[in-house]
Amino acid sequence: MRPGHLLIFGAALLTISCEPKPPVWHTTFPAFGTRVEISIAAVSESRARRAGDKIKILFETLHRRWHPWDDGALASFNMQLMNTGSAAADDELVATVRQALSYKKLSGGRFDPAVAALVREWGFNEAKPISAPPDRERLLELLAAMPDQQQIAWQGNRLVSPAGGWAIDLGGFAKGLAIDRAIALLREDGIENAVINAVGDLRAIGRHNDRAWRIGIRHPRRAGVIAGIDISGDESVFTSGDYERFFVHEGVRYHHILDPETGYPVNGTMSLTVIGGNGGIADASATALFVAGPGAWPTLAEALGVELVMLVASDGHIEMTSAMANRVTLENPDEMKVVIVDMP
Ligand code: ADP
Ligand code: MG
Repeated sequence: MRPGHLLIFGAALLTISCEPKPPVWHTTFPAFGTRVEISIAAVSESRARRAGDKIKILFETLHRRWHPWDDGALASFNMQLMNTGSAAADDELVATVRQALSYKKLSGGRFDPAVAALVREWGFNEAKPISAPPDRERLLELLAAMPDQQQIAWQGNRLVSPAGGWAIDLGGFAKGLAIDRAIALLREDGIENAVINAVGDLRAIGRHNDRAWRIGIRHPRRAGVIAGIDISGDESVFTSGDYERFFVHEGVRYHHILDPETGYPVNGTMSLTVIGGNGGIADASATALFVAGPGAWPTLAEALGVELVMLVASDGHIEMTSAMANRVTLENPDEMKVVIVDMP
């Protein structure tokens, strides 16, 4: 190559590196009963749009497959379980259900995907939940039908339990799993800077062009955020909240995260946020720690290997790990009672 050519080549490179980065591209669509927002940085609009379209299809497919009662793969698995206590499914669904049940074990039953029939009785699968608590006897019946971990066995792709009357609900970690798969799709396409956000449950990779991604953690009772956090690299922020789906009956708030011990909505927690690497684990951990509640979550967080946790209790006080305190910026620190908890 003659020196002249080198020079031209060098000049072209310089022009490219000086060009402003394309603006961050956004799209939003409904999935999993909420809105999903995708932000993609540092690639052309057409590449971002193609990736966004793929993710939309992925979410629609998974939503159908994992809906507990509609007419997808999980719904048909659940129909068998409800009727006979035994059910078979394809490899993908079996792997997902097994993973969900493994969190049941890890979390000492606080995260329990066997709550599906209870969640349905409370009406939380419907766009508009029921307006009064279900009959107590009925709840106790459904609770009694839920098998213990050691009563569940697998014969190949078939789950076997002693009796029917129960079913699987993946709602506590489906968003995390779906977001993980969407991030994998982006990476296959060479996209390294993005956020996939399902209304407060999100995973962020890379950067927002020349700065970190700025993430807000929603205030459980007011519009706006309770805390902010910067992410650059690869992290998931998952919040379980009593404000996502709920109704108020005679002054009492009934929400969609159930205590698998009682069959009733968990008392004591308004929201619980976990920051972790993997979306599925962060999602399941947030649900499990929400159920454990104030004072009790640190022991479980330790067992789950989760270090970044923030809980907003029903009386408004905040409990968080010191690692979390080092990461978040509270919006109104003077207004809040914050308890820093050291992991046991
Ligand atoms: P959010 O929707 O606020 O992000 P979660 O990730 O905690 O909250 O998911 C709540 C959903 O999980 C409920 O709507 C229900 O489908 C399911 N669920 C409720 N209670 C439990 C539980 N104890 N363990 C596992 N899943 C649960
Ligand atoms: Mg969850």
